[in-house]
Amino acid sequence: MKKIVIIGASHAGISCAEKLRRYGFDGRITLIDRIPGLPVQRPPLSKDFLKYKNVELHGFYLRQKEYYEKEKIELVTGKDVVAVNRESNSIIFEGDSEINYDVLILATGADAKIPDYVRKDISNIYVLRDNEDAVRLKEGAFIANKAIIVGGGFIGLEVASSLRSIGLSVDLIEFAPRLLPRVSSQYISDYLQLVHQKEGVSIHLSQSIEEVIYSKFNKVEAVKLCSGKILRCDVLIYGIGVSPNIKLANDLGLSVADGVEVDSSYLAGKNIYAIGDVAYSSGEFNSRIESVFHAQFSATVAAASITNSPLPSQPVFWFWSDQYDLKLQIAGILPKPKKDEFLRGEVREGKKEGSFSVWNWYQNKLVCVEAVEDSQAYMVGKRLIEQNIPISPAIIKERSADLKEMLKNLL
Ligand SMILES: Cc1cc2nc3c(=O)[nH]c(=O)nc-3n(C[C@H](O)[C@H](O)[C@H](O)COP(=O)(O)OP(=O)(O)OC[C@H]3O[C@@H](n4cnc5c(N)ncnc54)[C@H](O)[C@@H]3O)c2cc1C
Repeated sequence: MKKIVIIGASHAGISCAEKLRRYGFDGRITLIDRIPGLPVQRPPLSKDFLKYKNVELHGFYLRQKEYYEKEKIELVTGKDVVAVNRESNSIIFEGDSEINYDVLILATGADAKIPDYVRKDISNIYVLRDNEDAVRLKEGAFIANKAIIVGGGFIGLEVASSLRSIGLSVDLIEFAPRLLPRVSSQYISDYLQLVHQKEGVSIHLSQSIEEVIYSKFNKVEAVKLCSGKILRCDVLIYGIGVSPNIKLANDLGLSVADGVEVDSSYLAGKNIYAIGDVAYSSGEFNSRIESVFHAQFSATVAAASITNSPLPSQPVFWFWSDQYDLKLQIAGILPKPKKDEFLRGEVREGKKEGSFSVWNWYQNKLVCVEAVEDSQAYMVGKRLIEQNIPISPAIIKERSADLKEMLKNLL
């Protein structure tokens, strides 16, 4: 095996190239992305990059230029892969040039969704997925006064927090009856709702847009909610989730659901792997997982599989979010209980004022810990889940018990 081509040079693609070298692969690695320039980390785009006028993208490069040269990773950016030829094992760029591969890795991630009803010729509608979106949004936000954000998931909430910190008024519209409906416990949803309201965000739950009202200058000037309420804006931002980039996988005839179906080594077809946000695993979680940690983990597994190195063991997935001066850390994934099943949750106050954690059990097993400003609870919870150590809600409820001591006794 001599040539590996990775399509997508973001968190997953770059990690995979790095791990291939670490596991001793010394053939050719070509890492391709349609976005020009050096690849940039995504998480700061809704946080520090958006918040601070003078902060620039180069502070967030995933790797410096010298890294790719030193590791002999051929980075090709600003080029779109438009097709893959499975017979000749080659990928085809716009303009018809081709590169051959022995192994192909799809790290094509996902694109931000935008509803069909939105007109495409409007200059003040935004999404946030990559650095080009982020630069556009930042330019628009710094000359705006009023923002409407559609979507109360992590992106919507982080953008709300950043825009409030630069003085915009913010209306946030969420279709579900609570914030973060897909990924957090009710307690965290309620808590973040209060935090955002205290910071001045107007939250509209169980609402959707009935009509977008355009001005004669090809701009959105207001939206009408299904309740009939009219909200005015200078910028309208959609944070309503993503669609995985599955076009190439479809062309290749791979199994595609809500993402490219992979096995436990992230293999999607003969000599083809899919990693990161585009990968759909039908294993324990039966889903796509959108996080930097999963991008890196899946990249490591694929690289190990390609180089016949031992596969890393199944980790506990983790995630973080920064909003205002709060850090939320989540260890584990909240399952979606089936009918007649439920999640048991226990809230525990932390040592620092205002800090706390929510511990979640499913089928009597600790599955997820959500910690606000409480890194000790996050770390202890993560260890307990990782090592599958049984722990009862009663112990967590016991406020006098020291978490670190408790962990020591249980290990
Ligand atoms: C604003 C923002 C904030 C986030 N914050 C957090 C956070 O705090 N914590 C966390 O864990 N996660 C966070 N995430 C999620 C995290 O960034 C993603 O899970 C991660 O980027 C997934 O990496 P990926 O490499 O799989 O996909 P992506 O980052 O989507 O990269 C895919 C790349 O493939 C390229 N590509 C696709 N198709 C082609 C093609 N045909 N030809 C050439 N190139 C192609 C795209 O241009 C893109 O650069 C955030 C995401 C965003 C957008």
